[in-house]
Amino acid sequence: MVNRSTVAGTTGLPYVGRFAPSPTGPLHAGSLVAALASWLDARAHGGRWLLRIEDVDTPRCVPGMAQHIAAQLAACGLVPDAPPWLQSTRSDAYSAALQQLRERGLAYECGCTRRDIDIALQGVGQVHQRHEERIYPGTCRLGLQGKPARAVRLLTLQHGHDAVIDWQDRRLGALRQNVTREVGDFVLRRADGLWAYQLAVVVDDAAQGITHVVRGEDLADNTPRQMLLQQSLGLPAPAYLHTPLVLAVDGQKLSKQNGAQSLETGDPLASLQSAAGALGLRLPEAKHRGQWLSAAVAAWRDRWIR
Ligand code: GLU
Repeated sequence: MVNRSTVAGTTGLPYVGRFAPSPTGPLHAGSLVAALASWLDARAHGGRWLLRIEDVDTPRCVPGMAQHIAAQLAACGLVPDAPPWLQSTRSDAYSAALQQLRERGLAYECGCTRRDIDIALQGVGQVHQRHEERIYPGTCRLGLQGKPARAVRLLTLQHGHDAVIDWQDRRLGALRQNVTREVGDFVLRRADGLWAYQLAVVVDDAAQGITHVVRGEDLADNTPRQMLLQQSLGLPAPAYLHTPLVLAVDGQKLSKQNGAQSLETGDPLASLQSAAGALGLRLPEAKHRGQWLSAAVAAWRDRWIR
C-alpha cells in the first residue's frame, strides 16, 4: 500500500517537545545543537520541553551519565519542565506494544543470524557491504522453520504491498521512503532481549504526548520506520524537524566516538553561541545567558515559525 499521509504534526494539541539523548557519553557540540533546537522550538511555541533518557541499550550506557547530561543542559539554561523520563523503566509499555503488533499479525519472530541473512541476500544476488545495514529479506515471515527464535521484527508489508511512507520534514521538505525495500522488516526486540530504539522511541513519543520532534539530521532516515510503527500501533505522528549536523574537522559526523570535545570545561554561553551558529541563527553577543536565550527564542521564531 502506498501510504500518502503527509504529516504536518498533531495539530490542535498543546505543544510538547523533547530532547532524547542516549547516556553513552557527555553532551558534545553536536548533541547540544539538537538540544538547543528542540528547546528553542518548544519555547517559541509556548510549549513544554521534556528530557527523555534513552537508556535501553544498557551495555552502552555509562553509569551517572544521565545526571551528567542533565547538569550540562542546566548549565546552558536548558531545564526540562518535568523530571527526566527513563526508558529503562518502560519495559512493560514496550511489551504491551509488541503484543499488540503480534496480535495484529504485524510482528513476527525471527531466527536468523547475521550469517543466515548474508546467505539469503547472496541467494537473491545482493552482496552485503561492510558497514551497510542489512536489508532483511523476510526469511522468517512464514515461520521459524525449526530455528530457535532470536529477534522480533515488524512486518513492513501492508496487505501484501511495500510500505511506502511520504512525509514532510519542516527543514528538509517532502521525503519518501519505501521501508520494505530500503530497510526491510526491522527489529523491534533484539536477539539479546533488549528493546530496539525504533519501538521505544515511538511508544514513548506517544506516551509523553510529543507533538513536535526536533533532532539531528542523522536520525532523519529513521523517521519513516517510526511513522510506519505509529500507523501499525494506531498512534499519532508528531511533526518532525531535523537539524543540520555539526561536522568534525575531518568532515566526519561529530560524535562521542571521534572525540568530540565535551562541554564540561567550556563556557556555556560560547557553546550556545556556536550551536546557534550551526542552526543558522545570527545572534549578537550577550552578557547574560538569560538575555541570550530570549534573543535566541525570538530569532528561532522568525526563522522557523511564521
Ligand atoms: N537517543 C537518540 C540519540 O541519542 C535520539 C533519539 C531521538 O531523538 O529520536 O541519538
